[in-house]
Formats: sequence, C-alpha cells, structure tokens
Amino acid sequence: MNFFGINALESLINNLSHLPGIGKKTAQRLAIFILKSDAQFAEELADTIIKLKHETQLCQRCFNISEGPLCHICKDEHRDASKICLVEDIVDILAIESSHEFNGRYHVLGGVISPLSGVMPEDLHIRELVDRVTNENLKEILMAINPSTEGEATMIYISKLLKNNNVLITQLASGVPIGSNLEFIDPATIGRAILTRRKL
Ligand SMILES: [Zn+2]
Repeated sequence: MNFFGINALESLINNLSHLPGIGKKTAQRLAIFILKSDAQFAEELADTIIKLKHETQLCQRCFNISEGPLCHICKDEHRDASKICLVEDIVDILAIESSHEFNGRYHVLGGVISPLSGVMPEDLHIRELVDRVTNENLKEILMAINPSTEGEATMIYISKLLKNNNVLITQLASGVPIGSNLEFIDPATIGRAILTRRKL
C-alpha cells in the first residue's frame, strides 16, 4: 500500500522491510530518517552497501566473508590451524569471536539439513568440510550449530560422516538453550559453552 504517494519512499520502505528483524513500522521509520537526513549521508549509505557487494567474496577455504581469496581468520598465522569451529552462518562467527575463547579457524556450512525446507546435505558445504579434514590434518572440529532439531540432526549426520577420520568431534556444552540462535546469546555464555565443550 502506498501511504505517502511517493514511489521512491515506498520502494525504500519495501526494500528495508526485507532486512532481518525489520518490520514494516521500523522500515517506515528508517526510510523517513534517511529522507530527512542530508544528501551526503544517503549517498554514503548507498555507496557502502554497493561497495560491500562489489568488494567482498566468500573465503575459498571456510566460506566466511572475505576481501580476497582467503578471509582474515584463515590468513592469521596465530590461529590454531588444527581446530575448526563449524557454524551455520557467517553471523555465528561473530558470536563465537566475541567470546574470545576460540583460537582456531572456521567452516561455514551455509545452513542446516532440512528436508522439509528442501535443504539437503549437498546444498551445504559438507563435502568441503570432509576435504578439509583429509587435507588439513585437523585434530578437532567444534560443532557450534544452533541447537534446533535440524541443527542436532545435522551435527549427527556430519559426525557419522567423519567417524572414520582421526579427528575429535566436540559440541558446545549445554548452557546454549535449545532452539536459540548463537547470534543472540551473550559472549560470556558462549565462552563458557566453548570451554566446557564435550565430545559428540
Ligand atoms: Zn576463511
């Protein structure tokens, strides 16, 4: 519905309302804020969004967001290359990093197995994970998948797939509530769940 009769405003509201956590009301507030701010702010905002799309790619190794073929975490020589933290999504890396309790590298799955939503193992970066286990001489995979029913099933699927490899598979300790998203859990709780992680 076109409340204001201004197509440019309506289309901005419509686009903003597709962002996660942004409902129609918030989208309207943001759009009107942008409308009222000076032209320089609006141009910079638009520029940074375009730059983000043009100047980033996915890390070839871990599928984190990256400016080059490898992300800053994969390039960091102070990181323990024998440990991988397996996450669903890029935002989960931010959650784990903010706890400062994990010093290995990551692997972004790109979701969880969910046959009902049409997500099968081959749609995720599982094959690449298996390749990394073979090629990178990994000692531990810490599964930090969000503890939903599908997340649990995905962890079990992957641990079965890797059971003949000589790699320790752990998961975050309880303390991360069932059905919750890592992204919304405070860093101290995540930190504790990492330190007290258990064998899967
Ligand atoms: Zn990477």
